[in-house]
Amino acid sequence: MTALPPGATIGILGGGQLGRMLAMAAARLGFHTHIFAPEADSPAFEVASAFTVAAYNDEAALASFAKAIDVATYEFENIPAATVDFLARHIPVRPDSNALATAQDRINEKSLARKLGAATANFAAIDDLKSLKAALEAGFACPAVLKTRRFGYDGKGQAKILEPSEAEAAWEKMSNQPSILESFVAFRSEVSVIAARSLDGTFAAYDVTENEHRDHILHRSVAPARLAPDVAAEAIVIAQKIAGQLGYVGVFAIEFFVVNESGRDRLFVNEMAPRVHNSGHWTIDGAMTSQFEQHIRAVAGWPLGSTELKAAGAEMINLIGNDILDWPTIVAEPGTFLHHYGKKEVRPGRKMGHVNRLLLAAPA
Ligand code: AMP
Repeated sequence: MTALPPGATIGILGGGQLGRMLAMAAARLGFHTHIFAPEADSPAFEVASAFTVAAYNDEAALASFAKAIDVATYEFENIPAATVDFLARHIPVRPDSNALATAQDRINEKSLARKLGAATANFAAIDDLKSLKAALEAGFACPAVLKTRRFGYDGKGQAKILEPSEAEAAWEKMSNQPSILESFVAFRSEVSVIAARSLDGTFAAYDVTENEHRDHILHRSVAPARLAPDVAAEAIVIAQKIAGQLGYVGVFAIEFFVVNESGRDRLFVNEMAPRVHNSGHWTIDGAMTSQFEQHIRAVAGWPLGSTELKAAGAEMINLIGNDILDWPTIVAEPGTFLHHYGKKEVRPGRKMGHVNRLLLAAPA
């Protein structure tokens, strides 16, 4: 295994806040970064050594990008698989296109979880209104959730179905895209495992994180999650099995629903993100190695860093839309870490920044 030395250039597909925080972590370790993104005002550009503004299917731009970098990674899973395959003919891409293809499709990721012995919500592949109606008539239990198989995030491309008569209205929201029907999970909480697998197969996970959403967008993450130790350990084992099966290299997230059944918690895998994740932002200030540095280490073929918490616990609160205007109050509060993404335009629902805090006691 050859580790990339400081001075090498890491190419990052995607120029959002995740790319920005990856580029900042890479710079600290002495790497250069080159961001490739279609949007001219990408937040990652101003902290990177170089950037290319081009579409993900622009082969001429991808070819020069490949020449300028030593390894490529991505901060966004909706990159076309063909883009990753094109780059992989020239340079290593970590994680590889197999991991991306699995995580891009909700049926593939749930099938993989089940194959490895993890529970998921019941699900059925839905390709048109006819198959949706047929599934509901055949007894697929309501309430259920219909989601697009691909390209969904923050609750976009989702519709709840309370009774079979709502099939048509739900299908309309899918814009005729291949979809997945899932049984609605009455969860007690939502948790995620942020973990990494290195080039030599070493695995390291952070403390399981508990996540609270508002309007389908992550609002608050706190670690460690309030889970029995054996259930937390089980979540990490599931993440390790998934990463091992995929031969994964880099940081990833597995999101779970926690369901209380007869007084005992059970885990249901919801989805996988083949990248650094919003619920891992607390690691920047709360863990020995941030998820961003950990990803750069894995992609560069370096050993993974310690995932240990620096305090009894840590929390992250997203600054969505106008929340970012509170920055003067936030920076005046001792022990609070502000992360501002530098986005020029404030829009409702847009992730503008986040705040981290260390906790003196583990969440009870
Ligand atoms: P997803 O895009 O799958 O992460 O879904 C976004 C959010 O919608 C989740 O974090 C849950 O809060 C909710 N959700 C999604 N799927 C289900 C489900 N099958 N049952 C209950 N809630 C769900």
